[in-house]
Amino acid sequence: MEGPNVLLPGMKEVNLSEEDEGGLDLLAVNGEGGEAESGFNWRLCLIGRFIQSGSLDFLSMQQTLASTWKPGKGVFIKELDNNRFLFQFYHELDIKRVVEGSPWYFNRKALIISRMTQEGNPRCIALDTLDLWIQVHDLPIGFMTTTVLKAIGNYIGVFVDACPKNFMGIWRDYMRIRVRLELTKPLKRKMRIRQSATEWVWVNFKYENIPTFCFVCGLLGHSERFCPRRFDTPEEEIVQPYGDWMRTPLRRPTKLIGAQWLRT
Ligand SMILES: [Zn+2]
Repeated sequence: MEGPNVLLPGMKEVNLSEEDEGGLDLLAVNGEGGEAESGFNWRLCLIGRFIQSGSLDFLSMQQTLASTWKPGKGVFIKELDNNRFLFQFYHELDIKRVVEGSPWYFNRKALIISRMTQEGNPRCIALDTLDLWIQVHDLPIGFMTTTVLKAIGNYIGVFVDACPKNFMGIWRDYMRIRVRLELTKPLKRKMRIRQSATEWVWVNFKYENIPTFCFVCGLLGHSERFCPRRFDTPEEEIVQPYGDWMRTPLRRPTKLIGAQWLRT
């Protein structure tokens, strides 16, 4: 039996103090950012998980997302853990388009993504927010300003962007804002806005392309049939303050069969 200190033939005894000197400086080797030759570049990496866990066909998921995204410079997808994936892109344009186009779906499960903001362990990136486009309805005309939209966005979650088309054209039924939602917080249905000294109005929110959410607790990621609240509330006391009306109707792609003759 060989103990831990036995040197096998051909092995050199390591002088511990030598190890402290020299060493490999990844920054110096690869330049700032530490991009390795393998093509790994954390700046072009997304980490993702699917909102509902459960079994997943990794091969089919890769095929589906790649063919949906069609990244010009390609994408490399790696499974890091159970329901945690790394998406390596090779151009800023590709990753930007995927981030801005979220949410993406595979088998009707939404993908929760986050860009890496610094080099680190991709397993430690929090995946607990989702960016969505939200329609703000019933906003009085005088309140249709970017400042008001920002305040509304920050009430719903964290304001990310406003639709550039909000202020185009003569009349719009609603304003669109992009908001970062925290998955641990219930969705907001409406907001009270003071119009004058005595008058308040309600503005209502409709969520575009929203994943499954619970009509009982308002959280994303499960339906009311699977709400944990069912276990500690008697059936007759269960109410559903949330509902389907918070979704915008699915946009069906319009076939532009008459486009060449239509004037705009
Ligand atoms: Zn619930």
